[in-house]
Amino acid sequence: MSRRRHVLGLSGGRDSAALAVHMSQAHPEFEMEYFFTDTGKELPEVYEYLGRLEGFLGRPIERLNPDRDFDFWLKQYNSFLPSPKMRWCTRQLKIRPFEQWLWPALDAGDEIVSYVAIRSDEGYREGYASTHPNLSVSLPFREVGIDKAGVIDILNASGLGLPAYYEWRSRSGCTFCFFQQKIEWVRLKERHPDSYAEAKTYEKNAVDHGSPFTWSAGESLDDLERPERIEQIKADHDRRLARLAAKRVVNPLRPDDEPIDMDELYGTAKVCLSCHK
Ligand code: SF4
Repeated sequence: MSRRRHVLGLSGGRDSAALAVHMSQAHPEFEMEYFFTDTGKELPEVYEYLGRLEGFLGRPIERLNPDRDFDFWLKQYNSFLPSPKMRWCTRQLKIRPFEQWLWPALDAGDEIVSYVAIRSDEGYREGYASTHPNLSVSLPFREVGIDKAGVIDILNASGLGLPAYYEWRSRSGCTFCFFQQKIEWVRLKERHPDSYAEAKTYEKNAVDHGSPFTWSAGESLDDLERPERIEQIKADHDRRLARLAAKRVVNPLRPDDEPIDMDELYGTAKVCLSCHK
């Protein structure tokens, strides 16, 4: 007999966590199935946060592990690193496991609603387009008008707060995600030197195989970690922060609890709903 199911993907990021909290409170009658698609290259802070979230929700978060890991797909793509132009990582490590998980049930007639954490202040993002007739997408934050400040309120009120990596990075996703800004690479090196070293190894291997892409546009991670370059990147970041802070209109009800996102500082990146929400 076909069923109606509700699924909600967690990226380890702020918005999807807040959506999970919101849905658990607004619709406790749904037997929500939470899932996290693990690329195997996630920050330790992500696993820690998911563990706390699981405790709050009182339901398990299903870990979808791709049948083939990053290294397998890297070989398939001739050792070329994924990049904004060739984003094989999202396709193979995020979307494919999701489809492998749900498609048999959808084909068998289950109707599944997938809840996506696009906020009401994010007109520019497109939702996950359903590619199966029995799969529909719901955007509850848009429907009820929850914006970034609302998301932070939800997480604070729940006691979860923000994931710990928000101290130095404003997106979830792989340790070496190419969508990172240069300042985030600098901080990755400071916070997780082993992950930075691993990213350098991947990059060297890619360049040796003729890849035109480095992780960060226009320079290798070897170049980016030179002390004088790090100073330059930090100074540029501080200038941007000061410029944006001077232009910001402060909400008197929330004078200082809304962190500045990288998108606001560096422009809207075409980030991915599976990885960065
Ligand atoms: S976080 Fe970045 S590197 Fe990882 S799968 Fe997503 S887009 Fe690719």
